[in-house]
Amino acid sequence: MIPFNKPYLTGKETDYIKEAVNLGKISGNGYFTNKCHLFFEEQFGFKKTLLTTSCTDALEMAAILLNIKEGDEVIVPSYTFVSSALAFIRQGAKIVFADSRADHPGIDEKKLENLISKRTKAIVVIHYAGVACDMDLIMDVAQKHNIFVVEDAAQAIDSYYNGKALGSIGHLGAFSFHETKNIISGEGGLLTINDNSFIERSEIIWEKGTNRSAFYKGEVDKYGWVDTGSSFLPSEIISAFLYSQLEKLPEIQKKRVHLWDLYYKNLRSLEIQGSIKLPFIPGYATNNAHMFYIIADNVMQRDSLIAFLKKKGILAVFHYLSLHKSDYYTKIQKENKDELPMADHYTDCLIRLPMFYELTEQQVLFITDTIKEFYQ
Ligand SMILES: *Cc1c(COP(=O)(O)O)cnc(C)c1O
Repeated sequence: MIPFNKPYLTGKETDYIKEAVNLGKISGNGYFTNKCHLFFEEQFGFKKTLLTTSCTDALEMAAILLNIKEGDEVIVPSYTFVSSALAFIRQGAKIVFADSRADHPGIDEKKLENLISKRTKAIVVIHYAGVACDMDLIMDVAQKHNIFVVEDAAQAIDSYYNGKALGSIGHLGAFSFHETKNIISGEGGLLTINDNSFIERSEIIWEKGTNRSAFYKGEVDKYGWVDTGSSFLPSEIISAFLYSQLEKLPEIQKKRVHLWDLYYKNLRSLEIQGSIKLPFIPGYATNNAHMFYIIADNVMQRDSLIAFLKKKGILAVFHYLSLHKSDYYTKIQKENKDELPMADHYTDCLIRLPMFYELTEQQVLFITDTIKEFYQ
């Protein structure tokens, strides 16, 4: 069976974990955490970064930092992972769901302004498959209406919008290092803070509502409880693991892009004959090869293709179920009459193909040949 995902290990993980253990400080915010922060800030130009235990946690920190509370509205695409909405619902926000674009599962920027009301506090955008949303359009709308922008960049490490790193454009950004992402630490995440006014408070929320970070830096002579917060920081064991992956980032990305290009080249004939649609990468966006997906015509064809591939030993999977139709949301939002046809279209028709570092060219060829066989 060709799996859908296989976590890639660089071989240095346990060396660095051993080093962290030998350093004698294995709680968070130590040697390897600092090395990771420096790497991210230097490599991608984020103003300030904080490692978290997951992208979900980074999004929760964003919701706290933006003071989201009961009565606030937050715009979130429906075609995304649960956490993009959940982090804001937990703070009491009402979620206003946005539809996806016809040419790409990302948020439909042109329809954004219709969703804004006097209560809108933030827009969360998702760079689906690591491909940028049109951030200039989004930041313009946000600025005009005085709204914050959070980039859910969970899938978007090392990907760019007009030369700017994703996660560095919105007021705040969130990355994931879950084992299904390009760069991993099992579970793990990163909050990026690009607006100076959030920097000081972000460190406090990160450290259980205390000013312990300032204390470590010698800025205050004792630390105590000064704000809300939680324990959002990972231990040095996680940071050490992550650092070994960061050192291999260029190789990992190069290999993934190579496999992605191979998929695209091999399946292009099926797109030309009108059987499937392939991913669209707008001119302002780069491709970090987080995911290779294809779009079938309808749900029946999608399901029978997945079943056909499985019979041939290939694990392909569908992706998100529109959040506006989820059990939880329909329970808490009873009068919900959202019509989001593109989100439903991707819910029904999108298929993700195996994509991981150790996937071979021969396997990609086998997968694309099998898909062609299905369409004959
Ligand atoms: C993976 C993912 C998340 C969740 O990341 P965790 O680190 O597992 O919390 C959130 N949003 C998107 C778009 C994702 O792909």
